[in-house]
Amino acid sequence: MRTIEHFIVNNPGGAAARTGDVFDPNTGRVQARVLLGTQADLDRAVAAAQAAQPAWAATNPQRRARVMFRFKELVESNMEALAHTLSSEHGKVIADAKGDIQRGLEVIEFACGIPHALKGEYTQGAGPGIDVYSMRQPLGIGAGITPFNFPAMIPMWMFGVAIACGNAFILKPSERDPSVPVRLAELMLEAGAPDGILQVVHGDKEMVDAILDHPAISAVSFVGSSDIAHYVYRRGVDAGKRVQAMGGAKNHGIVMPDADLDQVVADLSGAAFGSAGERCMALPVVVPVGEKTADALREKLLPAIQSLRVGISTDNDSHYGPVVNAAHKQRVENWIQTGIDEGAELVVDGRGFQLQGHEQGFFIGPSLFDRVTPNMQSYKEEIFGPVLQIVRAPDFETAVRLPSEHQYGNGVAIFTRNGHAAREFAARVNVGMVGINVPIPVPVAYHSFGGWKRSAFGDINQHGMEGIRFWTKTKTVTQRWPDGSVDLPRGSEDGGPSRIQDAFVIPTMG
Ligand code: NAD
Repeated sequence: MRTIEHFIVNNPGGAAARTGDVFDPNTGRVQARVLLGTQADLDRAVAAAQAAQPAWAATNPQRRARVMFRFKELVESNMEALAHTLSSEHGKVIADAKGDIQRGLEVIEFACGIPHALKGEYTQGAGPGIDVYSMRQPLGIGAGITPFNFPAMIPMWMFGVAIACGNAFILKPSERDPSVPVRLAELMLEAGAPDGILQVVHGDKEMVDAILDHPAISAVSFVGSSDIAHYVYRRGVDAGKRVQAMGGAKNHGIVMPDADLDQVVADLSGAAFGSAGERCMALPVVVPVGEKTADALREKLLPAIQSLRVGISTDNDSHYGPVVNAAHKQRVENWIQTGIDEGAELVVDGRGFQLQGHEQGFFIGPSLFDRVTPNMQSYKEEIFGPVLQIVRAPDFETAVRLPSEHQYGNGVAIFTRNGHAAREFAARVNVGMVGINVPIPVPVAYHSFGGWKRSAFGDINQHGMEGIRFWTKTKTVTQRWPDGSVDLPRGSEDGGPSRIQDAFVIPTMG
């Protein structure tokens, strides 16, 4: 049985007291064991990061950018192998696994522009002979704690920007699919990042707590479920760290009566069921406005859902593969039962799905609920599986209110041909990322990603200029230089404030 080890400088490996099972979700079999690390493992990683970071921060940003360029090339040339590894541990189909890697690479491309992004601000003549400038300096050591559902993209969101800014980075990936993160760290080293600048420690709560409490780690970026995000946020902030903690989601797609329903159905099929619904930007709730729209949408959705092909993740004809493990499969099926018990109408039941030859795989067929209402628990909570819920809204106002009042506020989409309705919706909805006729509005890498309400704790988003702000601190210098003429007085006695009283008041520039 393969053991997945930490990626720590001078890692002696060795036997860990605890390991976690890494499954092949297609077969249900354990394919590897991952070490579940301890404080001692983290201490070794931190020591290596501390040794490496000052020289990395002092490396000019253009040289750091060149490492990013090489890393991008290396990931691209290893795309096939990375996608297969990713797919074999996660269960998403190969095309989707490539998308996971590609969306992460786009953040690396953004990080290639780091010399420009790190330029500070400058004011000449803020007062008589006074100039003010600001610079962005790295924090030191940053850590990332990432979920299973994007094992390439989300680590790259974080370490791409953090490392380009001059930090050392310690990644604690999900213990369910840890191989790709390790491979990315190897490639970063091959690209020219010094030893210790990107390391990977594996583990579960014990390792997460060690990261949150470690005094040498200045910032923690977390992505995962909301209760844990909240916990990570509180504990990290308590320890004096900068923390951003992205949580769960329940994204709504509003369908106005004038929407192009064929397009909506095509978009929904991918957005609700793609990657078996295991995306924080999936669209698991659809809100048709008006009964006529709802009936027409349901009629078109049915055959589309019935034609979805669930299969193993390496089958190019599969629309989606298995969910990540047996516990998650059970959880999703329990939510389907809850929906029935609460009185929602189960139109398509994906439970009990069996793939011939892969009976032990973690497959779930697509499910569709109609007449879901906002008081139902199955509506309020994230299901994170291939389950689409129709919540019928009588009018536009209700359609704006539903996502706005939901506990999660990650993404939302509206489908309409009416520009005014779309504009009103985008302005008023209480959600962090909005799509207009775009079902999964994940912002491009040079904008930033972040939800609202229980979808994100902390106030700085991932990547884009927000990412630069998160992984750096601002230093502002106010400078006044004595006149440099040779016969002018020098030294502290004569070069100080012109009037003694000036030294005792807060200076004003005007
Ligand atoms: P998870 O919360 O179970 O795990 C996330 C990370 O937290 C993992 O590294 C895990 O090891 C660690 N962890 C697990 N239990 C812990 C505990 N008790 N204490 C401390 N750390 C713990 O999430 P997941 O199941 O891996 O990922 C799916 C979730 O992530 C979904 O809720 C999804 O919506 C969310 N997600 C959110 C975003 C976003 O940007 N908002 C993106 C992707 C996924």
